[in-house]
Amino acid sequence: MRVLIADEVDKECPARLRAAGFEVSERFDISAEELKKVVGDYEVLIVRSRTKVTQEIIESGKRLRLIGRVGVGLDTIDTKTAEAKGIKVINTPQMSTVAVVELVMSMMLNLVRGVHLANESMKKGLWEKKRFHGTELNGKTLGVVGLGRIGKSVAERAKSFGMKIIVYDVMIDEEAIKRLGAERMATLEDVLRRSDIVTLHVPLLPETKRMINERTLSLMKSGAYLINASRGEVVDCKHLLESLKSGRLAGAALDVYENEPPREPWEKELVALPNVVATPHVGAQTKEAQVLGAITIAENIINAFKPL
Ligand code: NAD
Repeated sequence: MRVLIADEVDKECPARLRAAGFEVSERFDISAEELKKVVGDYEVLIVRSRTKVTQEIIESGKRLRLIGRVGVGLDTIDTKTAEAKGIKVINTPQMSTVAVVELVMSMMLNLVRGVHLANESMKKGLWEKKRFHGTELNGKTLGVVGLGRIGKSVAERAKSFGMKIIVYDVMIDEEAIKRLGAERMATLEDVLRRSDIVTLHVPLLPETKRMINERTLSLMKSGAYLINASRGEVVDCKHLLESLKSGRLAGAALDVYENEPPREPWEKELVALPNVVATPHVGAQTKEAQVLGAITIAENIINAFKPL
């Protein structure tokens, strides 16, 4: 069984696959053109988000039986074509939960205390003590939109900071809501109207695309903060830029963008705003998450090909 790893994956993955008898090629920077040429030699293709597994690539993969995505989102894989060809697609949705949650907590604290700005000021040799008056998370209301793996863990940690948690999700998980001591809102609009900080943890779906737009942004409390570490297209960032420039929103933290990297002038203006904390889609990038993802994908591939 031949496996092609097309994106950088922790060494635990090839090591475990080789130990189980798979023949593994590691070509971490392979181009789309080259991949199309060689994919026909492999039964298994492993990718992260860099490699787009398009219809063309799947159709060139004459022997392909399985595509493994180290990570959560399957939006970079043409799953319909894969399914039509009987190719299994698996991912590792749990790997990055803790990593994303900890990034979101750091964003929240950064936003309310201006750590990024104070740091920048110190590095310029300044001592602007009076400039950096923040607010506290304690006693504030956190609106969690999407109470799945990441949303629940963010809520859990925010609770320990003394925050009141309100949530909106299309699925109702009463047990989790009770455990978190959270309050469930009937609509997204209710969460936006009542939160001091809103954090988005929904998948990118037709219903969630631009769920934060001109109308819904206008419902947010004046002086509220928005955090998006889900998917860039969940937020209409042109309107987010306007809300931040006008001072209606106090700030935003973003790890994900419609274009990665941002390329339009308005996108560049957005990330350059002083009240925006921006990171380059690094939510899953901790050592622990990468090792967990590599082990999980390898074990799942080994199990998938085990004789019954
Ligand atoms: P999950 O599937 O566990 O949770 C998603 C939740 O959103 C579910 O509870 C679901 O019911 C809810 N939901 C779906 N549609 C909704 C809607 N229209 N309105 C309200 N709620 C809705 O997913 P997760 O693992 O918690 O991941 C959440 C998001 O984080 C995803 O977008 C994922 O792609 C993203 N993510 C980002 C990074 C990063 O590097 N920044 C890393 C991992 C995951």
